[in-house]
Amino acid sequence: MNWTKEAEERMKGAPFFIRGIAKKKAEEMAKSRGKNIVEIEDIELAKKSNDLADISKIDLSIEGIESTKFKEIKPCGGLKGCPLTLFNDEQVVLTLDKAIRKEELQKFLETQITGPVLYHHKFKAAVSGCSNNCSQPQIKDIGITGYIRPKINKGSCIGCRQCVKACPEHLVAVDSDPSINYKECLDCGRCLRACPTDSIVEGEKGYRVIIGGRLGRRPHLAEYLLDAESLEVLEIVLCKLINLYKGWYLEGKRFSSQIEELGVEKLRALIMLELKGL
Ligand code: SF4
Ligand code: SF4
Ligand code: SF4
Repeated sequence: MNWTKEAEERMKGAPFFIRGIAKKKAEEMAKSRGKNIVEIEDIELAKKSNDLADISKIDLSIEGIESTKFKEIKPCGGLKGCPLTLFNDEQVVLTLDKAIRKEELQKFLETQITGPVLYHHKFKAAVSGCSNNCSQPQIKDIGITGYIRPKINKGSCIGCRQCVKACPEHLVAVDSDPSINYKECLDCGRCLRACPTDSIVEGEKGYRVIIGGRLGRRPHLAEYLLDAESLEVLEIVLCKLINLYKGWYLEGKRFSSQIEELGVEKLRALIMLELKGL
């Protein structure tokens, strides 16, 4: 499908996380009007029929997995093709759901909460494909974010500075080779995706788990727990966390408060021990 110059320019103004869907819808609209070129009018018509300007109106669910009055699973726009996602969002949401089912969390909460369900009674989790964290994992019981640590390959840099331009944090410098301020790096992978010569490539990557976020009377941002290198490890970690969630619930303690009291280091040590024993 071809695009007029004006239509291409207009599409650049769409928020990046829905640009993929918006383009597809505009092309579908042009096709349904018997054309093989997308014009501004097609974008306008597609917008009217889908209200693509509002991400909150895009269905971000996966069939068979829904938030209920007892649990909330919030994915980010990676599920619908945001180009910045660093993992397969669907697989991560399915892994989270698998852990919830294994631990029978829904059933557990149904038996525990007999009166009206208030928001703080709910188990809340969010999945974000990159460190932009659009689904707000920082204020959930459990948050999972995609990460890729950039790795430098010396000797092939051509000095184009695309990596410097791509880093939103201004952490990349280029001399004869690139260098990165790893201390501040958010592992978003944008620099390596911009490099045409593989002078910056993928290093360690996986699923970053944060825990214990909440809003309410005493807000608390979720704290870093660990990086899981595979979905299998992620599932084990999630099962353990949900198990603890249930245990603390029975003791009348809120997950985030208990993590604050216990300290995330102790919890990390406990989970690492469990992972080592496998
Ligand atoms: S968190 Fe990252 S991958 Fe997900 S919608 Fe936001 S920018 Fe895209
Ligand atoms: S991974 Fe992201 S934050 Fe880190 S240096 Fe590259 S672009 Fe910057
Ligand atoms: S994008 Fe790659 S080739 Fe270009 S300056 Fe950066 S590291 Fe060098």
